[in-house]
Amino acid sequence: MNLIEVMDRFPDQESCIEHLERVRWAGTPVCLHCSSKHIKPKKEDGVGRVGRWHCKDCNASFKVTSGTVFHGTKIELQKWFLAIALLTNAKKSLSSCQLARDLDLNQKTAWYILTRIRAEMAHKVNSILLQGIIEADETFIGGKPRKENKKEDREPAPRGRGTSKLPVIGAVERDGNVVAKVIDTISGRTILDFIQSVVNIKESKLMTDEFPAYRQFATQMRHEVINHQEQYVEGDKHTNTIEGFWSLLKKAFYGSHHHYSVEYTPLYVFQRCYVYNNRHLETIFSKLINNSMILPNKEAIV
Ligand SMILES: [Zn+2]
Repeated sequence: MNLIEVMDRFPDQESCIEHLERVRWAGTPVCLHCSSKHIKPKKEDGVGRVGRWHCKDCNASFKVTSGTVFHGTKIELQKWFLAIALLTNAKKSLSSCQLARDLDLNQKTAWYILTRIRAEMAHKVNSILLQGIIEADETFIGGKPRKENKKEDREPAPRGRGTSKLPVIGAVERDGNVVAKVIDTISGRTILDFIQSVVNIKESKLMTDEFPAYRQFATQMRHEVINHQEQYVEGDKHTNTIEGFWSLLKKAFYGSHHHYSVEYTPLYVFQRCYVYNNRHLETIFSKLINNSMILPNKEAIV
């Protein structure tokens, strides 16, 4: 959904609240504390609908946004919806400064919104279990974007394993989903932990390069190794899909003049995974909102 469509469909706070109530409760609102259906809207004070409900059984009051990505927010929901549309449509990165300008927010608020939405995306990516032919690989990301004509940039930059950039490990299904995350260090242990947590080992075949840390998988699951010293593709033996994802990730990461902090990078990697996994979906905006209402990300709510 583009910005004009969001503004047409959700012109005010009330239309946003009604949409979320429809998605979360499908026409039958229930108490979020005791699941009772004996609830009624609380009286509003005339400043427009706040969307607070009261439960006659347990006497609690709550809003449709409780426990979701929008939990406790004082910012208009329309701005949240616009931020989600901007973030899911962004080909490159979206900084909090840019979002602040676009939505007339202060930078701190824009940063908060972006972080919450990215945490929601991270939650969805983290709940995926990959299956089938899985390509796994690692890469490095980070540092400032290169500026031309600076002496230090003419020095050859260190590349590959052994650099000071942040290590990222990823696994991808052919024609399917990707899961990638920033890890502390690349080792046999961290690679094993990652693959075991995101891949259905019994039902999958792993494709990797000849990096020694992958040798341990020979006894764990079906595993094919492509020796990049010799050739890059041998029948269906290749790691082109994960390498394609790395190139998308880096293009987006370095495509903005913003400087990315180390703390920011892990959520950013999850965001790119989320957008990649929904690349064929025209309704990625609605999907994010709907999923966040149906399966609230409790861990992300502080
Ligand atoms: Zn109740």
